[in-house]
Amino acid sequence: MVIKQYDTLVVGGGPAGMAAALAAARAGRKTALLERYGCLGGGMTSSYVRPFLGSVKNANIGCEIEKRIADAESFCSPVEAAKIVLAEMAHEAGIDVYLQTQAVSAKTVPTAESRRVESVAAVSHGTEYTFTADAYIDATGDGDLAAVCGAEFFIGRDSDGLVQPMSVMFTVEGIEPDTGLVCRHEEDWQDLGDGREYLDLCRRACESGELPPSVNIVRLYETGRRGERMVNATQLNRVFPLDPRALAEAEYELRTQVRQVVLFLKNNIPGFAHIRVNGSSVTTGVRESRRVVGDYVLSAEDLFAGRRFDDAVVTDAHFCIDIHNPDGAGQAERDGCPYTPQPYEIPYRSMTAKGFDNLLTAGRCISGDHRAHASYRVMRICMAMGHAAGVAAALMSEGGLTSREIDIRRVQRAVGIRKDAEASGS
Ligand SMILES: Cc1cc2nc3c(=O)[nH]c(=O)nc-3n(C[C@H](O)[C@H](O)[C@H](O)COP(=O)(O)OP(=O)(O)OC[C@H]3O[C@@H](n4cnc5c(N)ncnc54)[C@H](O)[C@@H]3O)c2cc1C
Repeated sequence: MVIKQYDTLVVGGGPAGMAAALAAARAGRKTALLERYGCLGGGMTSSYVRPFLGSVKNANIGCEIEKRIADAESFCSPVEAAKIVLAEMAHEAGIDVYLQTQAVSAKTVPTAESRRVESVAAVSHGTEYTFTADAYIDATGDGDLAAVCGAEFFIGRDSDGLVQPMSVMFTVEGIEPDTGLVCRHEEDWQDLGDGREYLDLCRRACESGELPPSVNIVRLYETGRRGERMVNATQLNRVFPLDPRALAEAEYELRTQVRQVVLFLKNNIPGFAHIRVNGSSVTTGVRESRRVVGDYVLSAEDLFAGRRFDDAVVTDAHFCIDIHNPDGAGQAERDGCPYTPQPYEIPYRSMTAKGFDNLLTAGRCISGDHRAHASYRVMRICMAMGHAAGVAAALMSEGGLTSREIDIRRVQRAVGIRKDAEASGS
C-alpha cells in the first residue's frame, strides 16, 4: 500500500473536479486529483458532451477553462481540445493528477457532533493507494466518494426513483457542405425545403419504429467544422446508474441506437446520404445519479423563486429544468421546451455533506432535488460550483477548520460574488 498526504483531495476530474482542483492548487494548497479514466474532463471528454450550457454571473475558473478550450479549437475538435487544455492547466497549477485511479473506500472517524474523513483508498493497476487530506471534495458526478464515506444520498425522482435516461453522443461527418440543418432543442422547427419539417419527421420515425421508441428527436449541433454535426439523440430509459451490469447493457443498446439514428439521417435527410460516424463518447453518458444530502437541499421551488442565500457561492445561475423523460421519449414535463426558472443562487450549504466535517461536494452530485438537479447539472454551473468548493477546501486546510467554520465571505470574494469592503478585509 502506498500512502500519500495532501492538503486537498479532489475525487473526479470532470468540469466540477477540474475547477475545484485548480482553485485549491492556485490557493497554494498541495492538491491531488483522482480520475478513474485515462484523461481529464468527465462529461466534457469521456461522454463527448458539448456545447457548454447554462450561465452564471460570477466570473470563475470555468470561464478560463472554456476560453482556453475555444482557443485550442483552432487546431482540433472541441473534445480533443479539452483533453489537451485540461492536462495543461492541471500541470501548470501543480496539481498531482492520478489517472486510471478509482476511489473505492474511505475511513471516517467520529468527531464531537459529526464525522471526519480520515483517508480515502484508491486503486490503480493492482496497487492500493491511501490518501490523507485536510479537506475532501466529491466531484465524481455519481457521489461515489460520499457513498463510501457513508453519507446520505437521494437518487431519482420522488415518485418512482427513476433517473434521467442515458445517452451516447457522437459526431458525423460527410454532410453536403451547403446543408445548413441544425436542431438544438424540441422547438427548433426546421423546414427541409421539400415540404417536410425536421422535428415532425423525427416524431413520425419514432412512431413507425424507424427510430427507437425512446428517440423522438435527433438533435444536431454545429461543431465548427463544415459538413460535421454532433448528434445528441440516443436515449435509454430505466437504467440504474449504479449497477455495472445495467450499464453494460445500456452501452450495448445505445451503440446499437447509434447505427439506427445514422441510418435514419442517411435515408431521410437531404444532404446526409454520405455521413459516417467519426467519433463518440468513450462511455455511456450518465445524466443523473446520486445527489448527496447536504446541510441544505436546493429545490426547484428555490430556482423558480430566484431565491437568494447569504452563503451563495454561485450567483445568477441560469438554465431550464431540462428533464429528459426518465420513462419515455422527449421531455418529462412538457411536450416542447422545458420550464425555465429565474436566475438562482447555489448556497454553500448544498455542498457541505451532512454529518461530515471535511467533506464537500461539487457538480451534479450536490444536494438538490431531482428537478433542481436537471438545471444545475450543466457544465458551466458545475464548474462554478467546483471553483467555490476548491476555495473552501483551501481555507479549511489553511486554517485547520471544518467546512462549517470557514469564513464564507472569503469564498464569495474569491469567486467574484462579494466585493464590499467588509468582505475584502476578511
Ligand atoms: C448525454 C449527455 C448530454 C449532456 N449534454 C450537455 C450539454 O449539451 N451541455 C452541458 O453543459 N451539459 C450537458 N450534460 C451534462 C454535463 O455533461 C454533466 O452534468 C457534467 O459533466 C457534470 O459535471 P461533474 O464534474 O459534476 O461530473 P462528471 O462530468 O460526470 O465528472 C465526474 C468525473 O469523476 C470521475 N469519477 C467518478 N467516480 C470516480 C471514482 N470513484 N474515482 C475516481 N474518479 C471518479 C468520472 O470518471 C468523471 O471524470 C450532458 C450530460 C449527458 C450525460
